[in-house]
Parts: sequence; structure tokens; C-alpha cells
Amino acid sequence: MTDRIREFLRNRRDDGPIMVVDLEVVAENFTKFARALPDTRVFYAVKANPAPEILNLLAEMGSCFDCASVVEIEQAMATGASADRISFGNTIKKEKDIARALQYGVRLFAVDCEAEVEKIARQAEILGARDAKVFCRFLQDCEGAEWPLSRKFGCAAEMAPRVLEHAHRLGLQAYGLSFHVGSQQTNMGAWDAALTTASSIFATLAERGIELKMVNMGGGFPTRYLKDVPAAEAYGAAIFEALTKHFGNRLPETIIEPGRGMVGNAGIIESEVVLISKKSDEDEVRWVYLDIGKFHGLAETMDEAIRYPIRTERDGDAVAPCVLAGPTCDSVDVMYEKKPYDLPVSLSIGDKVLIEATGAYTTTYSTVGFNGFAPLASVCI
Ligand SMILES: *Cc1c(COP(=O)(O)O)cnc(C)c1O
Repeated sequence: MTDRIREFLRNRRDDGPIMVVDLEVVAENFTKFARALPDTRVFYAVKANPAPEILNLLAEMGSCFDCASVVEIEQAMATGASADRISFGNTIKKEKDIARALQYGVRLFAVDCEAEVEKIARQAEILGARDAKVFCRFLQDCEGAEWPLSRKFGCAAEMAPRVLEHAHRLGLQAYGLSFHVGSQQTNMGAWDAALTTASSIFATLAERGIELKMVNMGGGFPTRYLKDVPAAEAYGAAIFEALTKHFGNRLPETIIEPGRGMVGNAGIIESEVVLISKKSDEDEVRWVYLDIGKFHGLAETMDEAIRYPIRTERDGDAVAPCVLAGPTCDSVDVMYEKKPYDLPVSLSIGDKVLIEATGAYTTTYSTVGFNGFAPLASVCI
């Protein structure tokens, strides 16, 4: 936790859980990414945390934005960033939203099938957007990722040339490729595997007279939860080595889209212990109920995938395993049970608990008011 967050929480008088983001940490993270891959443009994945203060800061620092919807595009444009700094990176878009993006001046679109190419081509034609570019996302194995992405996005590598040729034929610029190695990817070799595939698709299309220009290397850069993770520089070095290995001295234009790695470690949630109980006299594991749970931003504890570091005022005392649960009347509102969480035996009702590294994928995953509990409040300092 940073001194600025500590100071903010010391002076806080409001009740209820809150996520506090230290913008200085976001700025440091951006600088680290920019330095780790100096020739690569950074497109912040807006979905990780769309707080206007974060978007404004990143826009000022020169970041571009990966947006998944018209609303995210509007949020990015509200910073004053021009449309050429925005990518419509969702492979699943309504045609009217594509039209809206084109009207805003956005020209970079993700696709993973011919039907999506056709929507973009049709709207580009209607709106006279001759310079619209598409990149094709291919499926990538997410081995090593703690929050893997499914087969939902991307097509088989063998299919990508056909999708891009279709785009070319319909008058769009077949611009490049994208992949995502899975979120919280702790294996730096994952990018090498994906770039092997990317370079072979480049070669296939070159033989057919289409010269691709760009590789979008997605997100996946980790944040530190309970275990140390390699620094951005190490990822940068591994990725640069893989790029030169597969593309030699004809390096394509490159993009990265960090979400979690940009904001995860910048945020902390302050929560309160509502109840501590046991289910029977023999029960060895206590149940600790917080005033925040799966429905208030901790959705990534689904299947206990992401284990957040938790700090209490009693750290240093003896610990014992606890089941950690949220306050709502839904039985899925349990964060850690299969693998209980060690917390101090002295932990008491009313204690404050800090859930660290919660700057990404929390506030927007909060329900609007399930059971009457307000959505997760957040503040940027
Ligand atoms: C979610 C997403 C990202 C961000 O992923 P992280 O693992 O949070 O860095 C990047 N690109 C696309 C297309 C995404 O959907």
C-alpha cells in the first residue's frame, strides 16, 4: 500500500467498502510498459478500470485505448484523445455500433470471422471510410494464465488468412493480427508461441499478395497478488527477442493492450468484517463475512482463480484458516472456501480489512444494487 492511500484511508469518515486508486502507481506502470517496449504502442484495455481520472492520466501520458463498446469509445474520447488512438477491439459488435465508431473516426477494428468483416465493410462503404483497417484475432492457447480466456474470441490460425483476404477483397485494409495469451499470464514464453503463429500467417498472406503491417500482442501482463511476478522489463525483453526471432529485421508495427498490468496494483479495497462464526462446535474453520463479496467487485474470485493479498490490523498475530464470504443472501457469494484463507485468530467483528491489488476488474464487475448493497464505491487520488 502506498503512503498516499494510507493517508487517504486514515482520514476517511464514510462507511462502506471503497476501492482507492493511487494514480501515481498507474503513471509508473504506464512508464514501465512504454520503456519495456519502446517501439510498441500501448493501448490501455479500458474494461480493466474505466475511471475517468485513469483515462485522463493515460491520455495525457500518450496512451492509446482498446475499447470494447461504443460507450468505452466515448469514455476514451472524453479524455480528448483523437479517434486514431482508439481500437475497437471486441470481435463481437453490432453493425450499428460499428457505424457509430466509424462516425467518431475510429478506423481500427478487430475481427475473427467473415461475417464480422462484412459488417465493417458494409458500413465503411456507406460512410465512405475507405481507410478502415481490420486485424484478425487468432485463437491462442492460454496455458500459464491464471484467468484464461476461452475459445470465445479468435479463429483457428488456419482460418485467419481467409478472413483477412475477405476483408481485402471487400475494400478494407487487411492490416494485421492479434492474439491474447490469457490474463495474468506468468509464462513469458507465451508470446513467443503466439508470434510463431503470427509470422507464419504473415508469410501465407504475403504469398497471396497481401502485406500485413501490424501485430497486436494483447494483454496478459500480470499484477502481483500473493506471488512475485516478473517485471514489465522482463516481459519486454522476452517479447522483443521473440519478435526478432520470428520477423528478423522486418519487424511489424506492434501494439500491446495491458489492462490488469496497468491498474491492478494501483488499487486497494478497504472493507469491514461483519461477522465471524463457526458452523458447529467441532468446526475448525471460521467463517469470516466481509461487507464486500462476489457481487461487489470480487467476481474474479470465481473458482477461486484470483487470490488477493489481504491485510488486517492484526497481521503478525497467529493465523488460522477461514472461509471468506460476502454479505449477500446468495450462497455463491463466497470468495475462498475450497482453499481457505489464513487470517489472524485475533481478527474481530468491526475490523477493517484491506484487499490489495484490486485496481483492475473490480468496480465495473459490481452489481448495481443486489440485495440493496450499493455498487463498489471508488476514488482516485
Ligand atoms: C481484456 C482484454 C485485454 C486486457 O487484458 P489483461 O490481461 O487485463 O491485460 C486486452 N485486449 C483485449 C482484446 C481484451 O479483451
